[in-house]
Order: sequence, then C-alpha cells, then structure tokens
Amino acid sequence: MAESTPGVTFAWRATPAGRALVSPLLHAVADHLFSSRDVTAPGVHTPEYATVGRAFGVEATDVVRVRQVHGCAILMVREGDEVPSGVEADAIVSTDPHRVVLVRVADCVPLLFADRQGRAVAAVHAGWRGTAAGMAGCVVEAFAALGVAPADLIVAIGPSIGPCCYQVDDAVREAFGAHGHAAAAWFTADADAPGRWRLDLWTANRAQLEAHGVPASSIHVAQACTADDPGAWYSHRTQGAEAGRMVAAIRLRGRGGPQGR
Ligand SMILES: [Zn+2]
Repeated sequence: MAESTPGVTFAWRATPAGRALVSPLLHAVADHLFSSRDVTAPGVHTPEYATVGRAFGVEATDVVRVRQVHGCAILMVREGDEVPSGVEADAIVSTDPHRVVLVRVADCVPLLFADRQGRAVAAVHAGWRGTAAGMAGCVVEAFAALGVAPADLIVAIGPSIGPCCYQVDDAVREAFGAHGHAAAAWFTADADAPGRWRLDLWTANRAQLEAHGVPASSIHVAQACTADDPGAWYSHRTQGAEAGRMVAAIRLRGRGGPQGR
C-alpha cells in the first residue's frame, strides 16, 4: 500500500466548484483542488469551467485544459502563450500565474505538481497506460528542463481507483514490463480470479517519482479510492455511463502574491 506523509492528511474545502480535497503540503506553495463529484452532473464529462475558475479567481478562458488521450504528451503553458483548444496531451506544465491548469478523471490518477520556489506547476492525468509509460517521471524531467530540481517538487496524488478495487488482466501487467522488478511490486495476484491482478497505481506513481529524485516526504497521497465512496467520487469502473468527471486543478502563485486564500 502507498504510504501517506505521516501526520498530514488532505483537507475538505467548500469551493465554488463544490466539495474538494486540498493537500496541506501542496497548499503551502500552490493554490489547487481535487474536486469531488460535485463538479459535474452524472454522465457529464466536462465541468463548467467558469465555476472551476471562480474557485481560483480567474475567468473560464484562463482555465487551460487538454484533450486527454492516455498518452505521454505534455503541454507547456507560459505567460502570454495562446493555447489552442483541443490540444492532445495528458499533462500540462505551467509557468503562468494568471491561469489554472487542470485534468479530468474518474478512476485514473490525478497528480498535481508544484515547485517550492514558485517557478512552475503541473496537472497530470495517469491511468494505467500513462503510468505504464512512466508519465510521472516525464513530468519531473519537464520541470528539470525549466531548471526546477526534483528535490524542489511537491507532488499530490488525488482520489483515484485504489489497489483495493482495481483488478486488471495479464495484458496490463505485461505493459509494465519495461519497469522490470519495480513493477512486479505494484501487482498482487488476485486469489479469487486466476490470471487477474490488483494494480496499485498510487505506489507505482510514487515509486516513479522517487526514482526520478522526488523526496519521499514531498509526495502526498490522498489514499481515497473512487470506487469505495459513490457519494463523494465518480468511478468509471463502477458507475459506467453514469460517471461524470472530477477535476484536479492548480495555479501558480504569483511572486509576492497572497500566500493562501
Ligand atoms: Zn477501493
């Protein structure tokens, strides 16, 4: 099981986008939220971006989103950049304090990254495909290219399907082959179903971050399983077409700006 940072738990906040979880560790350096199911109606896959923006004090046009394709592409957002709609990517790295960047999820793992020195943030979508492709590590490398060392990163891993409920087949396990021995620890044989495995995406993403130099104490896992609490979360696996989408959103704090809201 993934371990959370001792003594620190995610906090519930009431926001214009409904109930949301906030990591106190990440909040120390960046405004962010992991929404609950409140952010969309059942079956609806896109939130009202104006509502999400309001939670950060920005307009809908300053909420940057992408067309998520379970790949490894990273969109870079700099101040003044025009971002066309429909860009295909599964991570957004931003150095722009005027805009919010977000990903949408319903079981897949949402990761929010921030630099302790306030130079960049990121919102990342990693389902099993993105995790197998090493998305978390690719994002650490994107920060490094901006001059942000892994030791300066804080990463929060939000509500997503947990090892308690995520059963996968051999094909998924084989897709993690490139990670070698490390990946073996992320799968547990399912005693009740031969050829089936329980996959721990929280531990897998944590391990990839640590392997890329992010300190263990800087990785904060919510340990909230989306399949376990239908009153709080949407789960594509358990709710199918009835599942709406949640968002994980973050904005860089401008230098000299307010520290907290
Ligand atoms: Zn569960």
